[in-house]
Amino acid sequence: MTSQKPRSPSTPHRPSQGNRDFRNRTKRGGKQPDEQKNIPRGAPQPLTGNAAAQPCILLKAGREKSLLRRHPWIFSGAIERVDGAPLGGDTLPVRDAAGNFLACAAYNPDSQITARVWSWDASEVIDAAFFRRKIAAALNARDALGLRQNSSGMRLIHAESDGLPGLVVDRYGDTLVMQIGSAGVERWRDTIADLLQELCNPACIYERSDSDSRGLEGLEPRNGVLRGALPESVEVVEHGLRFKVDVAAGQKTGFYLDQRDNRALTGTLAKDREVLNCFCYTGGFSLYALRGGAKSVLSIDASGDALRIAAENLTANNLDATRAEWQEADVFQALRKLRDQGRSFDFIILDPPKFAPTAAFAEKAARGYKDINLLAFKLLRPGGLLATYSCSGGISEDLFQKIIAGAALDAGVDAQIIHHLHASADHPVLLSFPEGTYLKGLVLRVGL
Ligand code: SAH
Repeated sequence: MTSQKPRSPSTPHRPSQGNRDFRNRTKRGGKQPDEQKNIPRGAPQPLTGNAAAQPCILLKAGREKSLLRRHPWIFSGAIERVDGAPLGGDTLPVRDAAGNFLACAAYNPDSQITARVWSWDASEVIDAAFFRRKIAAALNARDALGLRQNSSGMRLIHAESDGLPGLVVDRYGDTLVMQIGSAGVERWRDTIADLLQELCNPACIYERSDSDSRGLEGLEPRNGVLRGALPESVEVVEHGLRFKVDVAAGQKTGFYLDQRDNRALTGTLAKDREVLNCFCYTGGFSLYALRGGAKSVLSIDASGDALRIAAENLTANNLDATRAEWQEADVFQALRKLRDQGRSFDFIILDPPKFAPTAAFAEKAARGYKDINLLAFKLLRPGGLLATYSCSGGISEDLFQKIIAGAALDAGVDAQIIHHLHASADHPVLLSFPEGTYLKGLVLRVGL
């Protein structure tokens, strides 16, 4: 990359309608360290440089490598110093130790991920036109891939992998749900909402910025209508099946869009089988299995609210309720109980929540995955199928497969992998951002 003069400092990149509360809360510039009272515990200390200089992030020598590979995160440990007096959410040029331009990125002194790249192009201005281009590109890509065909629900913007770090936008029919997970997007929230309104013309844009990861960014949770009015009932029709979506209080943005294709696959595998669906949420895999001709489906989840919606979904789709049983329970305990009762199944689905958000939790998570998979292998009849998933970013595909192999070994079963599965195509993975591959799954057949 060439050494170029940075674009003008952060001020011109600020939108006119910044979120004042946020900016004031994170205001850092010019303060003495002992005045910096609102730094969350464990957060990196700011690496303040020359306060009078043009705002800029300067990396330590040799720490530019991941950026040269176009990885969009800059960790606090890679930063030599931050010049100027930037605020959280400001756009700053990032330079290597020799002063060469690498990228322009959104700054967040309150996060271990201290900057997230908007652009690799020194001449690109981060303004409303930039967001219009990025959003339009994400929408067009999905249209070009024909992703609207099978569902009225879709992930329209998949954060880093769509070039918009920290921004998730999901569509459920006429309602868009926006989730903000970075200071950079937080700054441009109103602009992005206006653009989504203009480009997608939804009846409502609802904000579900209340995920746990927001805390790691030093951002307060937020949950409410951003534009329009929330319809009384939001639903998604996926491969002809109707699902109610609780955008205000449901998990994630209300529904697990990422499992769409895998749910459809389940429908094709379920015929005449006795199915056990663990971590069923609002009944996604269960309904596909029932429609696919399953003999019976026992569905287990710890959330009573999710199970109530699941039962409503069953009725809304006119599926045979006598073949469905719902159980509110902890899956770890329920599987043991089923084992002790001598129960067995022909098809088991395990789609647990994220056990390992980062690699630091991998070991504990691995024990959890092994435990439930081992129990599932023991509950399967010969010729039975196990569809097992991990949505943990901290567990690689390779490690996941090893854990499952260990579980099968300990359960004393031989198994074949029939399918390697991932998130649906509206959840693309940026090649330079392997962290984007969070969801992986295997369908296995036991007994050779
Ligand atoms: N397969 C679902 C999504 C599953 S999300 C779909 O396609 O829609 C994970 C689910 O696990 C959530 O519904 C959550 O309530 C549930 N859950 C989390 N921990 C649990 C536990 N220990 N026992 C049972 N359910 C649990």
